[in-house]
Amino acid sequence: MTDLRDLLTHAASRAADHRAEAARQPVFPASLDHEAMRKALGPLPDHPTPARAVVDQLADIVEPGLVATTGPRYFGFVVGGALDAATAADVLTTGWDQPAFNAVTSPAAALVEDVTGGWLKDLLGLPAAASFGFVTGGQAANTVALAAARHQVLAGVGWDVEQRGLLGGPPIRVVANGERHATIDRTFRLLGLGAGVVEAVATDDQGAIDVADLSRVLAEGSAGPTIVCLQAGNVNSGAFDDFAAATSVAHEHGAWVHVDGAFGLWAAASPTTRHLTAGIDTADSWATDGHKWLNVPYDSGYVFCAHPQAHANAMSFTAAYLTGHGQGGLRTPADYVLESSRRARGFATWAALRQLGRSGIAELVERCCALARRFAEQLAAVDGVSAANDVVLNQVLVDFGGHEETDRVVEAVQRSGECWMGATTWHGRRLMRISVSNWRTTEADVDRSVAAIVAAVSRT
Ligand SMILES: *Cc1c(COP(=O)(O)O)cnc(C)c1O
Repeated sequence: MTDLRDLLTHAASRAADHRAEAARQPVFPASLDHEAMRKALGPLPDHPTPARAVVDQLADIVEPGLVATTGPRYFGFVVGGALDAATAADVLTTGWDQPAFNAVTSPAAALVEDVTGGWLKDLLGLPAAASFGFVTGGQAANTVALAAARHQVLAGVGWDVEQRGLLGGPPIRVVANGERHATIDRTFRLLGLGAGVVEAVATDDQGAIDVADLSRVLAEGSAGPTIVCLQAGNVNSGAFDDFAAATSVAHEHGAWVHVDGAFGLWAAASPTTRHLTAGIDTADSWATDGHKWLNVPYDSGYVFCAHPQAHANAMSFTAAYLTGHGQGGLRTPADYVLESSRRARGFATWAALRQLGRSGIAELVERCCALARRFAEQLAAVDGVSAANDVVLNQVLVDFGGHEETDRVVEAVQRSGECWMGATTWHGRRLMRISVSNWRTTEADVDRSVAAIVAAVSRT
């Protein structure tokens, strides 16, 4: 029999090896034989295998297929790198294996979420009285927030959507930034309104909402239950909506204002970028991620709501066997999220915030933004290459002179293994999309990545 202590130590040391290697190995596996890996994973076994052998088999088989997202030169999507303390806290979370439903299933998990939720509101400049939930990510945060919105705007016209559903009920209008994230559309599919409900508002050249157009759209449609979706951090350009102006217009129409700030909400945590979020505290709900810019391991996101009762009404449920709601005055985490049984997500976030502190988080945000500007400046200096967005945050879009050229360069860079970034189509142009969201990235990593891009440009 394997001693659990040895097994966990062994697994942790393999994970640590991987993370150290992530700075050295090709960022994306050079050549991966999917069929060989599938074969090595094998058919469903008939008989048991000792735990130690299972762990080694898993690591041996899958490591060649891992992407070095925890390393300093992964710039794809908006992927964070997981801070050391948060990673270790997540290992503890796994070991403790707490069902974080309520204070009876785990007083520690309930208490840590309670404390950490307060810290997050403080850091992100959100109202102290807002309710919050620790969810799996931005998608879940948007879904929970907009379920609360659906509850509130229908309650306002005397319709109990939790009880009666949507059939036969009053219509809801949804008005959103035309460049919203796709998870907003999926949310409306899941909430029974359909993605087609969304009335898109025009945006400016950076993808921020055109407030005059928002005004026009709201005024032209019928009054009644209305939800407005704004964005902190355009997924391509990083642009921010004008929250003070847009929220004030939306509130004049009695609308609920939701802000998707999956990564952009973190701008509020640094004095150098906080102005981008001015007025954001006047919204009604907010969504953000832990596993992107805060560098907490997957899965981690947060939802906040200025109307705690609407939030709980939309999410909570009860059953006779679920004793202990509010036990010892402790908040019930499951009243604010989609899941019932759930991972104790508060521990890793507490550890990340504790490791960095207010100043460390501000510094992480500033550093990533400075590195994004470094990318843009160096690449724009290359012949035939131009930056395609105003780099206001950590997102950089680069044009290599046309659709095919950009695709060729992006593919060559990905193949080089030096770094990894994806491509996007934005405002009709094919662009390389760079996101600097990892605490490990340094100026040297940016310079090395720029060199790899320049090499790809000259080869193509
Ligand atoms: C990533 C992202 C989401 C979705 O978040 P997940 O954590 O992937 O579920 C939503 N909105 C924006 C702006 C994002 O960048």
